[in-house]
Amino acid sequence: MDRDPDLVRTRGYLYVCGRCPFRGEKSRVINHFYKYHVPLEHCDYFCTLCMFRCRSEYDLNSHTRGYTKHVREVQTLQKNGQTYNERNYLKKASVANIFEDGRDIVKQSYAESQKHWASRAGIRIKSFPKPTKPSLSKYTATAISVAPKPLAPLETSTATCTAASIDSYTRLF
Ligand SMILES: [Zn+2]
Ligand SMILES: [Zn+2]
Repeated sequence: MDRDPDLVRTRGYLYVCGRCPFRGEKSRVINHFYKYHVPLEHCDYFCTLCMFRCRSEYDLNSHTRGYTKHVREVQTLQKNGQTYNERNYLKKASVANIFEDGRDIVKQSYAESQKHWASRAGIRIKSFPKPTKPSLSKYTATAISVAPKPLAPLETSTATCTAASIDSYTRLF
């Protein structure tokens, strides 16, 4: 009997965007999320010339050579007789986006992922192989021979409570 191919092993788990029905590989969904659901200036790193956005300074620096849209924008600038100073366009967010796995992108189940990749590849899946068991060994409790030290008592704050300090707490939420 021929076995169904394990597509999750080759393509990874399927991820879905937390804000729209977009789905695909994890890295693609992350890129999509940043491109469509995060304002440019909230992306960790971004380029105001070509609107490129990314999560590392390295990617930002290398996009100036490898990203066609950026290269074209530079050519347009130079054609119009303007000088191109890279540092005017490459930016780092002052307010970084708090990206949350599980909320902004959501991992799908093994079966769901397998089904998706199969339909993409035009493969008919007969049965879903069982997901591999986690390789962690069974947890066994070991008794602690020495009693743990009691925690140090909490220090009492000497700061006086003012209307302004209360306000600064409430504004956090
Ligand atoms: Zn989306
Ligand atoms: Zn750019």
